[in-house]
Amino acid sequence: MKLRHISLTGGFILSAVIFTGHLLFSNYVIQNGFSELERQHVRAVLETALHQIRDQQSRLDAFAWDWASWDDTYRFVLDADRQYVESNLPDSFFTDQHLSALIIRRGDGVAAFAKTITPDGTESAALLARLLQGTRGELPPLTGGAGGRGGILYLDGDFHLVVQRPILTSEGQGPATGDLIMARRISREMIETMGLNIGAPVRMRLSDADIHPAREPIGGTIRTSDDSVSGAAVLPTLGGRWAVVSVTLDRGMTRYGHTVATYNNVIIALAMLLLCAGAYLLLHFKLFQRLEGLDAQVAAIRGGQPNPGAVQVSGDDELSALADSINGLLGEIARSHREQMDQAEAIANNERFLSQVLNSLSVGILLIDPDTRVVVSVNDHALRLAGRDRDEVEGNICDWLADPGEEGDRPIPDRHQPHALSKRELPTRSGGTIPIMKSVSYVDKNGQPLLLETIVDITEIEQSRMELEKIRQGLEEMVAARTRELAEANRELVALDKARTLFLSSASHELRTPLTSILGFLKLMEKRFAKTFLPRLAKDERLRPQAEQFSGNLAVVLSEAERLGRLVNDLLDLNKIDSGRMEWRDATLDMHALLQRAAGAFAGEAADRNRVRFVIDPPPEGMRILADADRIQQVLINLLNNAFKFTDEGEVRLSVARVGDSAEFRVSDTGRGIPEEDQEQIFELFYQVWDKSEQASHKLGTGMGLAICRQIITHYGGVITVESRVGVGSTFRFTLPLAGPEAI
Ligand code: ADP
Repeated sequence: MKLRHISLTGGFILSAVIFTGHLLFSNYVIQNGFSELERQHVRAVLETALHQIRDQQSRLDAFAWDWASWDDTYRFVLDADRQYVESNLPDSFFTDQHLSALIIRRGDGVAAFAKTITPDGTESAALLARLLQGTRGELPPLTGGAGGRGGILYLDGDFHLVVQRPILTSEGQGPATGDLIMARRISREMIETMGLNIGAPVRMRLSDADIHPAREPIGGTIRTSDDSVSGAAVLPTLGGRWAVVSVTLDRGMTRYGHTVATYNNVIIALAMLLLCAGAYLLLHFKLFQRLEGLDAQVAAIRGGQPNPGAVQVSGDDELSALADSINGLLGEIARSHREQMDQAEAIANNERFLSQVLNSLSVGILLIDPDTRVVVSVNDHALRLAGRDRDEVEGNICDWLADPGEEGDRPIPDRHQPHALSKRELPTRSGGTIPIMKSVSYVDKNGQPLLLETIVDITEIEQSRMELEKIRQGLEEMVAARTRELAEANRELVALDKARTLFLSSASHELRTPLTSILGFLKLMEKRFAKTFLPRLAKDERLRPQAEQFSGNLAVVLSEAERLGRLVNDLLDLNKIDSGRMEWRDATLDMHALLQRAAGAFAGEAADRNRVRFVIDPPPEGMRILADADRIQQVLINLLNNAFKFTDEGEVRLSVARVGDSAEFRVSDTGRGIPEEDQEQIFELFYQVWDKSEQASHKLGTGMGLAICRQIITHYGGVITVESRVGVGSTFRFTLPLAGPEAI
């Protein structure tokens, strides 16, 4: 049900309830309130009427008391003087005083004077008799009277107020000579006048009913009818019966109340109608219309596009705040929707991509329900391998394809292995089989565990493996044959090497002996020729050029012989090191002594070369190495020899420094340098950079010095290197481990 209808219905029901309540309440107030007011009014009127009757009786009593306490009356009772009557009690006296009777009675009960008068001016014997009889004793005392006594007498349709006073002197002295009785008829005019005075018609009648004053108090009986409200009160009469005084009022007050209530109800109804209409209009414009607008906008947004717009509600209250909140919410929804769409698209793309990847893989893939063995999904390659259609495989138990193994001994479901890899045979549609490698493992697809089986066709691998096996066997045979050949060759080489070493060794030794003789004789020849023959031949002009040429040739032969000697020595050294026959006489060497010895070997050379400075940097104190002193000297001499040999001017420097736990020797020069491409090769046997023609014959080397140096340094676990720039100079470095505490 719509809020508008609920409000309308609720407002209508509420108004009806309020209006009905008000109607009932006003009716109740009028029925009871106005009735009560009328009853109270009747009671008040009735009491006023009774009060006026009593007042009349009191005044009559006062008048009677005045006559009874008069000396003339007192004497009249005693002397019965007729003069008193004639003077004081003419007929006019009765008319003026509205008296219906006057009795002056002596103490013995005889009336000294008695007179009654009816409205038509005649005597009433009946009234007299009733008065005399009724007042034989003392009458009851008057209510509110000044000691007087009296009552009401009813006779022949008329009520009479009766008072009784004892007759005394004017000073009120007794003894009483009798009593005075006065009666005044309550006439119709008197009652009408009373009614006029109190504003309501008064009636007085005699009741024959047996009324008990305690149950029917005076003024206590109020009766209400539709048209009138009446009240009645009773007064006792002297005959033992009751005079009923009644008042009847028209119910104008209630009618007026009804009219007022009706107007009031109409006004209230109109006011409520206006109020409801106003409230409804207020709700309509301030709430329903805006709510319906909001609802329509939200409905339009909900049923519309995926990117909802914004709702609009004017004003600055809770509804506009709600619209703002809805707009915020819509923004969130739009963002979340976009994110979901993006995610869905990303997932769809991923799935497409995954599907493409799976189908383009050269590996067969099956997803299988582990409980039912039903194939959930299979890729194209698996179908191609088996030669089956997708419909044949997906949704069916394809144990023939997946080949799960023996029941109870399956690796994953039965033996609970996390992964299984095995070589199987895959049956094809043509009835044959192809070798496959099958791997099985568990995967989780959206919370559902599935078996992922991958099938790889290993036909080619198998063929390759078999071919490889054949090749391997062939190779093994070849290797075995080759190994045999190599072993044979090796044996021959070892034998050759031994023979070479032996040859070199013996050849060197055999060469050295005659070479030493040749050198000795050559030097002797050169010396004698220079001393004995050359001075004589120099005097002869013809022989002198030939003698000088002979001397030069002799020097060349000597130089070459010396070089040959060096070559033989180097060969012997190299051969010794190579064959392991070198004797290494290792000892702790003091660095200072080592350098001094090397410097001493080149003192002459340094002195001759005045354009080349020879510098030896003092070594660090206490530095020692453990090595063969002759071999280290051999290295230093070879390096220094090269340095002097290839340096024309500048300096040759020898220094040593501690680098880590090694001693680093440096031999540097400012000579011609070594091209970069030759720097590694100079350590190889017989490698020489510079053309021999560029060097003086006595400077010609053997090309073996650096090779020997490297052999020696390598023997001690060191390294020899060179840094050089052509035209600038070279620096040779080699390292040797420090000895003793130095090494620490
Ligand atoms: P060699 O007996 O010829 O000096 P080495 O083995 O000692 O044989 O040297 C090989 C070659 O390295 C030399 O012939 C020379 O060309 C080059 N060489 C060695 N030391 C130097 C140097 N300090 N300056 C320039 N060239 C050098």
